[in-house]
Amino acid sequence: MAFYENEVGTLIDEAKVQARVRDLGAEITRDYRGKDLTLVCVLKGSTVFAMDLARAIDLPLTMEFLGVSSYQGGTETTGEVRITTDVSTPMAGKHVLVIEDIIDTGLTMSFLLENLRARHPASVKVASLLEKPSRARAKVAIDYKGFVIDDVFVVGYGLDYAEKYRNLPFIGVMKGK
Ligand code: 5GP
Repeated sequence: MAFYENEVGTLIDEAKVQARVRDLGAEITRDYRGKDLTLVCVLKGSTVFAMDLARAIDLPLTMEFLGVSSYQGGTETTGEVRITTDVSTPMAGKHVLVIEDIIDTGLTMSFLLENLRARHPASVKVASLLEKPSRARAKVAIDYKGFVIDDVFVVGYGLDYAEKYRNLPFIGVMKGK
């Protein structure tokens, strides 16, 4: 029995996640052909999605990492967003695609978009694996969306609960939460 089976149930299985990521990669490949594409991965939750998505994009691209803190380790947002690790190169003139694990209230992404737009990139778009529309507090347009989910706390495929479960290959829900 796998270590997580008593704690986590499956919401979206591995095959569905992989198929959707491949489709998003193909769409991004079509949209950015001939452009200077920079993926900005939001740490830590989007890393697994970002690495799979990057490999599904058939274009030359560069990758940057941006650390933000919006959660304090529990399951509720505080609304307070702070950049903890910044990208390592200037964003001016680049076609930036921000990669996020989940848009919940939208507060983190709207803060990030405002921050990145102030650096004068050629364009900024958003790819998010998941969206929880029922929780939206700030309006964010998601250009490449994996799945829309109900208001449940999800883990796996990069998403954590108290820093655990990021390595599950599927999207799961905590049992009893
Ligand atoms: P927002 O600012 O949109 O409310 O929150 C975005 C961030 O909250 C996500 O990047 C993620 O880190 C965290 N988050 C929101 N919902 C969930 C969830 O269901 N599971 C996990 N593990 N993190 C979540």
